[in-house]
Amino acid sequence: MTPTGKLYFPTGQNIIKPLVRLKESIRGLGVPVLYVNDTHPENSEEFSAWPPHCLVGSWGASVVEELSPQSGDLVLHKDSLSFFSTPVAEHLLRGFGVTHLYLAGVATEYCVMACALDAMARGYVVTVAQDAISSVDINECDGEQALADMLQAGVILSDCATVSRNPVARPNERPFP
Ligand SMILES: [Zn+2]
Repeated sequence: MTPTGKLYFPTGQNIIKPLVRLKESIRGLGVPVLYVNDTHPENSEEFSAWPPHCLVGSWGASVVEELSPQSGDLVLHKDSLSFFSTPVAEHLLRGFGVTHLYLAGVATEYCVMACALDAMARGYVVTVAQDAISSVDINECDGEQALADMLQAGVILSDCATVSRNPVARPNERPFP
């Protein structure tokens, strides 16, 4: 999200302010905020597809200042696109009784989509805040295609204002299998 970052793409910065506002709303309602941060060892398998980035302990692996974790926020690190590649992830979610995930961040067609589709496959209800995600668009329509793929998989596409009003799972939402 920062111009000197290894995987910087300009539109990523556009979601910082919406993310700050969304996080404030969610925290105000007592809903847990979970950071899922790219953090790679030097020999990460991801570096076969991407240049080295977000190395463990480096500046690049830290969260941008505006979004620094606050007291009570949960922070997990991942070494691939999906949150669920981290073994503790699902234990954590189930421990909190989470049935509905609200996703935001970067990048739409990579980590956001991978997390969303993995969560759907595991029986979670998934909502993506469309105005708090951003796509790299190496190919012009990658982001649009990712939204279509997520929608096709049953992901709810929403926005920050709606998510802030209604962040708690409804009783009629699909339970775990
Ligand atoms: Zn990565």
